[in-house]
Amino acid sequence: MEKDHKNNIKVKILYDNEASEGFKSGFGFSCLVEGKNILFDTGGDLSTLIYNMRKFMVNPKDIEKIVLSHEHRDHIGGINIVNYCSKVDVFIPRSFSSQFKSWLSLHSNVILHEVCEAEEICKGVYTTGELGQSIKEQSLIVKTGNGLTVITGCSHPGLENILACASKFGEIYGLIGGFHGFCKLEVLKRIRLIVPCHCTMRKTELLNLYPKTSKKCSVGFTVEI
Ligand SMILES: [Zn+2]
Ligand SMILES: [Zn+2]
Repeated sequence: MEKDHKNNIKVKILYDNEASEGFKSGFGFSCLVEGKNILFDTGGDLSTLIYNMRKFMVNPKDIEKIVLSHEHRDHIGGINIVNYCSKVDVFIPRSFSSQFKSWLSLHSNVILHEVCEAEEICKGVYTTGELGQSIKEQSLIVKTGNGLTVITGCSHPGLENILACASKFGEIYGLIGGFHGFCKLEVLKRIRLIVPCHCTMRKTELLNLYPKTSKKCSVGFTVEI
């Protein structure tokens, strides 16, 4: 059967602990969901983010939405990118500090959305809502012709909890982002695209365990989901 590429979307890694030649690395994570014009997280600093965006020929003016996973420096450090955007919707977990929220609301081009429960943020794209106890975090779910791809920041609420939440929206095809201390690697055996990034402690183990379905992450990498 011929694969339907029509609905497929590409994710570009803009910020990661590792970088391909010509790109800059930094401790943190950010990626662009191309086709949906969504920036997920902003990495640890603005200059590295902008450098990599230019290299990728991504124009900040084309970003329509920014989704921030959680309020850690390595994910929100490049938030000044809003100064380079046109009108932009910014989705943050409701638990973000009032200091951060009031700083964002000073920007007249920013439309702030505080996320609590799982919801659709645009056609075929969902947030898990804020999950977790001590460190609250939201993950992004993108629906394509292949199924759902889950994009995580650090997975502080636990990757299994995030996947359980995401699977309410359908079958999970892909998983991209920081998995942090996640260790029940066998849980991912049915996922057809695994891209462990950023803070994933068992990155090498994952790549070795799933050589056919996993891909090495670095800035400059584009993956079709
Ligand atoms: Zn974190
Ligand atoms: Zn992190």
